[in-house]
Amino acid sequence: MTNVITSKHPLVAHKLTRLRDKATDPKRFRELVREIAALLAYEATADLAIVARPVETPLATATGVDLQEKIGLVPILRAGLGMVEGAWELMPSSEVWHIGMYRDERTLQPVQYYNKLPIEPRVSVCLILDPMLATGGSAVATANVLKRWGVKRIKFVGVIGAPEGVQNMEQHHPDVPIHLAALDDHLNERGYIVPGLGDAGDRQFGTG
Ligand code: URA
Repeated sequence: MTNVITSKHPLVAHKLTRLRDKATDPKRFRELVREIAALLAYEATADLAIVARPVETPLATATGVDLQEKIGLVPILRAGLGMVEGAWELMPSSEVWHIGMYRDERTLQPVQYYNKLPIEPRVSVCLILDPMLATGGSAVATANVLKRWGVKRIKFVGVIGAPEGVQNMEQHHPDVPIHLAALDDHLNERGYIVPGLGDAGDRQFGTG
């Protein structure tokens, strides 16, 4: 699990506990996903490249910086949608590129159904957003898509991961750091993370 960065932040742990709680309703669940996504995106972007830029204050010239890298937020539909706003608030000039993947419930393999990426990438760093890193199939497939597109740096930002998903990502994309709020115990026979939080899409959209 060398690529996993599990947040140590007490706010993340507190919010994750509410998120896991089966009594949390969809409205609060969505708020928590957004808030946790913002905190994790903050941690995941700590190494973004910057370039010096002097800035005039009302009093003098101060030393400042601009972000050097153009960031792409890549939510995996549909559960990743809930993570966009939190990350976007921090980085409003990011581009958001949606990738649609569903998991075939029989084979547990990812099937891509939406991808409108332009021919040439306009971003240099992409954050893949998906709350649950379960088998890792969708994350691996999305990182494949982004690499084929020509993106040089990719990070995965999720809420809860399973060891199986982390291993899958580390095997196929050892260069992609995995930022999580928690690394859980295992996947059950239906591909759900245990203890997890249930179905992150259903819990956000009230469809469970
Ligand atoms: N997707 C979810 O929403 N939850 C899981 O536990 C696993 C995959």
